[in-house]
Amino acid sequence: MHTVNDQNRAGLERVIEYALERIEMSSPPLDRCETPEALQRRAPHAITPQGIGVDAVLTEFVDVLAPACLSTDHPRYLSFIPAAPTKTSLAFDLVVSASSMCASSWLEASGVVHAENEALRWLADLAGLPAGAGGCFVSGGSAGNLSALAVARQHGRSRALDGRRLRVAVGETAHSSIASVLNLLDMDAFIVPNSGDRLTGTALSEAINADPDRASIVAVAAAAGATNTGMIDDLAGIAAVAAESDLWMHVDGAYGAAALAAPSVRELFNGIELADSFIVDPHKWLFAPFDCCALIYRQPALASAVHAQHAGYLDAIHDSTEWNPTDYAFHLSRRARGLPFWFSLAVHGTDAYRDAIEASISLARSAAEVIEVTPYLDLVMQPQLSVVLFTRHGWEPNDYTCWSDKLLMDQRGFCLPTRWKGETVGRFVFINPRTTIEDVRDLIDSLGDPA
Ligand SMILES: *Cc1c(COP(=O)(O)O)cnc(C)c1O
Repeated sequence: MHTVNDQNRAGLERVIEYALERIEMSSPPLDRCETPEALQRRAPHAITPQGIGVDAVLTEFVDVLAPACLSTDHPRYLSFIPAAPTKTSLAFDLVVSASSMCASSWLEASGVVHAENEALRWLADLAGLPAGAGGCFVSGGSAGNLSALAVARQHGRSRALDGRRLRVAVGETAHSSIASVLNLLDMDAFIVPNSGDRLTGTALSEAINADPDRASIVAVAAAAGATNTGMIDDLAGIAAVAAESDLWMHVDGAYGAAALAAPSVRELFNGIELADSFIVDPHKWLFAPFDCCALIYRQPALASAVHAQHAGYLDAIHDSTEWNPTDYAFHLSRRARGLPFWFSLAVHGTDAYRDAIEASISLARSAAEVIEVTPYLDLVMQPQLSVVLFTRHGWEPNDYTCWSDKLLMDQRGFCLPTRWKGETVGRFVFINPRTTIEDVRDLIDSLGDPA
């Protein structure tokens, strides 16, 4: 099984052939979620002492398992945050897998680190971070937030608070991963009420000044594109408060910070250039395959002081002063997960990325206009980025769920509702440049069908 020969070559080629077919699909099936019983019945035991061979296992994957997974790149997959990897990035992901590179350190993978750092630099430049900024690619926004806030915690510890719990200021609409990360890091969230659907510097400063234990608030985690609404926190106002109160400023742009590349909304991010750390997920709106989050620090040395691992057998990677991605996050072995993003960016050029991101923003605006003139719908707020929230007249929470279930059953779309200010509302998220206004009109028509 570690050599390619006349017996196994054809099987391997069929696996690669299938990957190619999937990459080439212009319109993948949406597919569906199956019950555990159905999967147990149709895919009972693949793993046996003798092995059942490529054909049998591949058939089970293609016929049973793959159709039981939603295609996040389907143009009508508008739930959570969808994915829309470029064909180039997908093809190159196969190369990354085939190349057995461990991208932890410069010593092991200098070529990869050089290329990944070029992609990180493009993002840092979009944000306006200084030349010394840098970081690494991690698996996702949750992992990025964890590693960044671990460094923020270290910053806070310098205050010598006699063992008091440290706190991190967040807006009401901070991503769920922030609460999870704070729990892991043994810190508490200091939740500041939104004003005008986002966290502002004024609200932050008022809340801090009213707090009896201000010193224990050591950081702020701002959202640059709340996942639920797409609203961007008042980064410039927050940065001013952070400077005044010596807070570590982290910007969670996992979904939205891709729009730094979109001139039509760039000014909404003003202030991001003052962040101490920031993340954006290329696997979301930067068209890379799962899983990929760019994590960037203003002063990377503060991060390596927290995250670099030391052991006798690792000394060699620290002998040189070159860049080691492992030093900037909680990880050691590492897939070269920034490389498909880098490759596609280099192939297509950054203008193509700008245009593809602008397309989703303009689609969101058009969708909002259609919703506003549709008699049975109300727009919840004007979209800032590419999330559109709406309500359907006369619907109870269960009606939204039934509508969404039926859409998926009919393979017409995947549009889960969400909750906003205690109410169930409809939600569309656009990041796929192949989603059209006709798709949106059809989904809006389906909302007019009797529940
Ligand atoms: C998606 C998202 C995350 C979590 O990222 P994962 O890659 O899913 O771990 C964090 N913050 C925001 C704002 C997000 O949209």
